[in-house]
Amino acid sequence: MTAEHQQQQHQQQHTSKVNDTVLIVGASIAGMMQALLWKAGIPYDSYERAAEVRALGSALCFNATTAQIFKFGSKGYIISRAMLYDVLRRQVHKERFHMDRRVVSISQKNDIDQGNNEGKGGVTVEFQDGSTVRGGILVGADGAYSAVRQNMYAQLKEKNLSPASDDVPLPISL
Ligand SMILES: Cc1cc2nc3c(=O)[nH]c(=O)nc-3n(C[C@H](O)[C@H](O)[C@H](O)COP(=O)(O)OP(=O)(O)OC[C@H]3O[C@@H](n4cnc5c(N)ncnc54)[C@H](O)[C@@H]3O)c2cc1C
Repeated sequence: MTAEHQQQQHQQQHTSKVNDTVLIVGASIAGMMQALLWKAGIPYDSYERAAEVRALGSALCFNATTAQIFKFGSKGYIISRAMLYDVLRRQVHKERFHMDRRVVSISQKNDIDQGNNEGKGGVTVEFQDGSTVRGGILVGADGAYSAVRQNMYAQLKEKNLSPASDDVPLPISL
């Protein structure tokens, strides 16, 4: 199957099954890695607050198992982060990456809340400009101060669903 054919197939899937779309927040290394989902036929859209992403840091280590996944042979590697980011970027669809889109909140709804037949659950993401998108699954790849994590955490707390261990102070001071 050619890359063009794969892309068409991906777009068809995207338009016909919006509720199956995986929404990825953050387009750095972790988000970019998630975007490879399209290779398994899973539609996605990626939302990034920056106008452009530059891979931070100098290098990272691939152990032998990870190297094989990337078809880099069977040995471990130390690879430049910028190079890895570039390899990933060349394998995803530019048009599925929505830059300058800062996520401020997320909400999840179950079938009863929806009161319609759009499928199971789903998640709605709201951006700083007030616009929203809806998808089936949300991946928070928005880094250390993740807005996705903070939103999820606040919602779990509200529903008394956060693990009790989260309220226990850390046994160490940082
Ligand atoms: C100075 C420095 C040097 C480092 N050097 C190395 C190194 O040499 N090797 C190494 O392995 N690691 C290094 N690290 C650690 C490495 O950068 C992180 O582990 C890695 O970047 C985490 O990747 P990530 O994709 O999870 O998150 P991040 O790289 O933090 O990416 C998060 C992305 O989400 C976006 N985002 C954040 N909030 C929102 C929002 N609300 N809406 C939409 N988008 C959002 C951000 O703009 C960003 O693009 C370094 C870190 C720093 C700070």
